Amino acid sequence: MKIGVLALQGNFENHMKELRNLGIDPVKIRYPTQLDQVEGLVIPGGESTTLTHLMKTNNFFDPIKTFAKSNPVLGTCAGLIMMAKKIDDVRVEPLGMLDLTVKRNRYGRQVHSFSNIITVHFDSRDVTIPATFIRAPQIIEMGPSVKVLATCEDLPIVVLDGLHLGITFHPEVDGISLFHEWLFLLARNEITSDRMSRKK
Ligand code: GLN
Repeated sequence: MKIGVLALQGNFENHMKELRNLGIDPVKIRYPTQLDQVEGLVIPGGESTTLTHLMKTNNFFDPIKTFAKSNPVLGTCAGLIMMAKKIDDVRVEPLGMLDLTVKRNRYGRQVHSFSNIITVHFDSRDVTIPATFIRAPQIIEMGPSVKVLATCEDLPIVVLDGLHLGITFHPEVDGISLFHEWLFLLARNEITSDRMSRKK
């Protein structure tokens, strides 16, 4: 099974590395037709306005939306922003696969980046990991289908909506492959959204 990493902009090389660490074959996705070769997709962080522009220029919008109907997608930071339904910035065109409203740059500029230790709640287990936030978005509204798997200062930072996972921070910066593993397991149908419990 192959997993794709959207390689238009941003930190895609580190996501490829996390997948390789798990023994998963990553495919650098530069053209929409390559989506046929993969069964899951990572949308890395970067800059959502630039990602919007590049995805438009390369005709990615409809193919990714179609792909997401039957395949899992993992979005980190700007990737989560792209996957949301509503964004507080008209320059960003949402893909609408996570029933979220998001606000860009919640914590300020690059110099205000920070790391924290967070706990992810999955399948009745708690996993504690470092989380690095770089000009991270804030999830300000969620639809009823969205499960919160981790919070930081009472704000949701890891969410799951059906087959789709959104993370407001950058796991690949800290060498965390947990979410890439979930993406792989979702693609193999070995875990389902129902088994992931809501963070209390
Ligand atoms: N602030 C960026 C945006 O709005 C996201 C930052 C990131 O992906 N690290 O797109």
